[in-house]
Amino acid sequence: MTKKDYYEILGISKTASDTEIKSAYRKKARAHHPDVDKSADAEKKFKEINEAYQVLSDQQKREAYDRFGHDAFGGARRGTPGGFSYQYGPGVDVNFDFGGFADPFEIFEQFFGARSPFGGSARRGPRTGADLHYEITIPFEQAAFGTEKNIEIPRHETCSECSGSGAEKGSKPVICPTCQGKGRVQQTAQSIFGNFVTARTCPTCGGSGEIVDKKCPLCKGSGRIRSHKETTIRIPAGVDDGDTIRFQSLGEAGEKGGGYGDLYLTVRVVPHKDFKRRGYDIYYEQPISFTQAAVGGVVEVPTLDGNVKLKIPESTQTGTEFRLRGKGIKHDSSRGDEFVQVKVITPKNLSSKQKEALKELEK
Ligand SMILES: [Zn+2]
Ligand SMILES: [Zn+2]
Repeated sequence: MTKKDYYEILGISKTASDTEIKSAYRKKARAHHPDVDKSADAEKKFKEINEAYQVLSDQQKREAYDRFGHDAFGGARRGTPGGFSYQYGPGVDVNFDFGGFADPFEIFEQFFGARSPFGGSARRGPRTGADLHYEITIPFEQAAFGTEKNIEIPRHETCSECSGSGAEKGSKPVICPTCQGKGRVQQTAQSIFGNFVTARTCPTCGGSGEIVDKKCPLCKGSGRIRSHKETTIRIPAGVDDGDTIRFQSLGEAGEKGGGYGDLYLTVRVVPHKDFKRRGYDIYYEQPISFTQAAVGGVVEVPTLDGNVKLKIPESTQTGTEFRLRGKGIKHDSSRGDEFVQVKVITPKNLSSKQKEALKELEK
């Protein structure tokens, strides 16, 4: 997946000043804060905006980004998660460590002085679980009319014993010793530009500032257990090969009682032996005899609802298309059409008598 350009995300030019970057961030971050923006991809956008700001507002990171693009922050160069290495000359490897990206809500908090200035939920709690991506293959007809499927999703679920807290019954969480309850730790990194300090989410408590004293015996304190979810999902009529459907909260449970991520299901549609699909219309090729083409007749053509009779008018040319309204792919509350293209089969192995007759016809 190619990442969006940080300048583009903030809607600024490559030569933007620090003030311009700040003001662009202020506008964008407020507009897409998940407490305000209720669209499905708000959280993703918010994350992007904060990531872009985190890099572009830091002179060293910005310089690295201008030179190396997204490679500067992990990605292409493996082995240095959250950082990158650069070969300065023969035998001179310089390792950068930017400490990964901080929690977008932390950046926001540092900038605005509040986690959410909108009076919405505070986000100090545990992180939502990861999204899951699966593929499902369905027959052509099920894509045309929609279907329901029973699926089993292997995933982490919130621990039933401790309801996700990770604490043994009767025990209480205590202040995290790593971050002293702050939820973040500072890290000093050395680079050729000098030392700089980055703040990152505390690895011990995951940002909650608390750890459990006595761990839940079932989930060993993580608040979730490996399990699977059986559920019935509805695949809407009209889906096409390669479409991805999002099912809310069918992803992984977050640790320490964090909510569920989403499930993204990419649909593969098995091609039909007779029909080709274009959009919501389907196409079928119907062979007809030379005589049917010349004098007309009735043929049976297949549709998704079974065979129907199609009247061929006299003098029909090969390649003529007939439209069967409403015999295509269902979608929303309507249906596409079926197009039947006739193909005239030229007669073979004619007797001399038949040939004579045709020659007569030609005149
Ligand atoms: Zn548990
Ligand atoms: Zn901690």
